[in-house]
Amino acid sequence: MKDAVFKLKANENPVFLRITSAIFTRIAASSTQLEAVNAVNLMTGESCCVVVDTVLKNVLREAYPADGYVDRSFQITKFAPVAGKRYATFDVKEIQVRAEQSPQAMSKTATESGGLDRVRAGDYEDYRKSPLWRKIKRRVLKRDGKVCRRCGGKATLVHHRSYTDEVLAGNNDEQLASICEGCHNFIHKDENGYTRNPEETDRLLLTRDESAAFPVPEVDLRLRWRKDPPGWDRMSAVQRQAFECEHGRLKLLHWLRLGKWPDTTRRLLRSHHGMTDEQIDTEVAALRTQKMQHRKRQ
Ligand SMILES: [Zn+2]
Ligand SMILES: [Zn+2]
Repeated sequence: MKDAVFKLKANENPVFLRITSAIFTRIAASSTQLEAVNAVNLMTGESCCVVVDTVLKNVLREAYPADGYVDRSFQITKFAPVAGKRYATFDVKEIQVRAEQSPQAMSKTATESGGLDRVRAGDYEDYRKSPLWRKIKRRVLKRDGKVCRRCGGKATLVHHRSYTDEVLAGNNDEQLASICEGCHNFIHKDENGYTRNPEETDRLLLTRDESAAFPVPEVDLRLRWRKDPPGWDRMSAVQRQAFECEHGRLKLLHWLRLGKWPDTTRRLLRSHHGMTDEQIDTEVAALRTQKMQHRKRQ
């Protein structure tokens, strides 16, 4: 029967389809809308209308932007959702079909390499801009409470430990980790700027480093903005925060040395930096001496 609605079953039996239209919304009943594609069942030669689940839709759209899946043939296997997951997973392989022959899988075999090939092929930039990825990223950051996996500071990025189709489609968040910018740079590049191998990257991601060590900030009161110290790119969120806090403290002490807003400055040093008046006086005196010695040397 032409245009029969065909629902993929989660029974691990692959279906062989040539997709012949872009994904469209089909009104099945007045209250039910389905997303579907027109396709040809390659085993039987029948035309059919295939219901496309959200996950399958995302896999197709991500792998073949701009409806590039139209007029291509696929081997699609649907797996039932694993315990605790809401979504079924799909294994989608593009296949080559020769006339009068049964479908023949292309060289891409493992789902894993499928995902990675696409990432390497340069589609990854498109992927990172996609609403799908933004949604996954938001979900993962929320799951982790925006805490960086490595340093425990504030995470702003999500790192992929693997690029399988499952992960890219948003069906396996276990392989995604919230991370801060500095730790992300650190785990991917070594001190000479060379890309680390994936094993090393993964090892460093999972090695907790909560160190707050940072270079002594240089305060330049002529500058409106604080200058980043060398190595800032690779400093963890914890280190960056400690550095900024110390820079702020030194700046207040310098203002006090110059007699600027003494009341406010002193109050901030007490409340924000937990200093006593004695400590403040000692440090301001030390800065004065330092400055005088510096002038003498010049
Ligand atoms: Zn971090
Ligand atoms: Zn990464």
